[in-house]
Amino acid sequence: MSVRDRRVLVTGAGGFIGHHLTSYLKAHGYWVRGVDVKKPEFGPSEADEFLLLDLRRWENTLSACDSMHEVYNLAANMGGIGFIERFRAVVMHDNVLINTHMLEAARVHDVKRYLYTSSACVYPGYRQRSPEVTPLREEDAYPADPEDGYGWEKLFSERQCRHYYEEYAFETRVVRFHNIFGPLGTYEGGREKSPAAICRKIALAGDGDEIEVWGDGEQTRSYCFVDDCVEGLHRLMQSDYREPLNLGQDRLISINELVDIVAKAAGKRIKKRYNLSAPQGVRGRNSDNTRLRAVLGWEPTISLEDGLSRTYRWIEGRIQAGALLGTGQAGEIAAHTPVNALG
Ligand code: NAD
Repeated sequence: MSVRDRRVLVTGAGGFIGHHLTSYLKAHGYWVRGVDVKKPEFGPSEADEFLLLDLRRWENTLSACDSMHEVYNLAANMGGIGFIERFRAVVMHDNVLINTHMLEAARVHDVKRYLYTSSACVYPGYRQRSPEVTPLREEDAYPADPEDGYGWEKLFSERQCRHYYEEYAFETRVVRFHNIFGPLGTYEGGREKSPAAICRKIALAGDGDEIEVWGDGEQTRSYCFVDDCVEGLHRLMQSDYREPLNLGQDRLISINELVDIVAKAAGKRIKKRYNLSAPQGVRGRNSDNTRLRAVLGWEPTISLEDGLSRTYRWIEGRIQAGALLGTGQAGEIAAHTPVNALG
């Protein structure tokens, strides 16, 4: 492979998964350009070049894709369930612009492979009404009834990738993440996901204290540690598989069990207080990894206990270091930056 063939763009490189992916690709010898509207919050990026660009703007996506061999497009305006249910218009607006412009800019620049990061939020609500949910296979996404905002945008952008291959022979890869978690992710402020929020609440609690749990805690999910996630992304990019592919663990657990695992890692007895009016998302969701195993000959291996323990230690360390700036809710955070704000 020539040097030109190892030039890779990671968008969303200032975010959680993009930051980890940049480090992974650097460790595997790639030249990496990172792009985001912000630098990573929790440590410097290892990217060879880091550009601050607003990817909702067409001319910026052209600059981002210039001279790139491969593109991992992770940039998105997103957050946990409280965030995406509250800011549907902004989330759809920003992400349709980012993904539409990124796909076309990559094609115009003759990028050889383009990976789009979709989500388990594309799966229909009618298949996720019970905590003992049947694991979701890729073909279950249709007939469509995705999450009503973020999920529709993801489904739309998945289809755009498919049509770019059909009409232009443009090589696209599409991954559907199932709840990725780990250190160096947002853990406060309103955009955090459930594992990080629970780690923060338990780190702030004393032994025997009570923490708030959204819903009745019986809703179920599967969770995947970020190191497995970035390895899976790299493997999918190398593969010839062009259809959407699940990337997650297939171990189903309830939020109550998640709290108990974190409490054990923390060495604290924790009581739960249920907030039944808080956003909960679907009742149950799990990944069917049959196709993942068949296509990649691989699946995530890092245990939930190990991953949560590592994540808890990192969040606890941040809090103990006095880095906690506040514990705002989704309503207090800025969901939207005007399109022209960054130039
Ligand atoms: P993240 O919020 O940490 O990272 C996304 C990054 O995109 C942020 O750094 C943000 O600043 C950047 N961004 C937003 N708007 C931008 C713009 N206009 N121009 C340039 N950059 C912009 O999220 P993440 O968890 O790292 O997720 C990465 C991708 O994976 C996203 O597409 C997300 O939808 C998808 N995903 C993540 C999960 C998960 O569990 N973390 C699950 C499903 C899908």
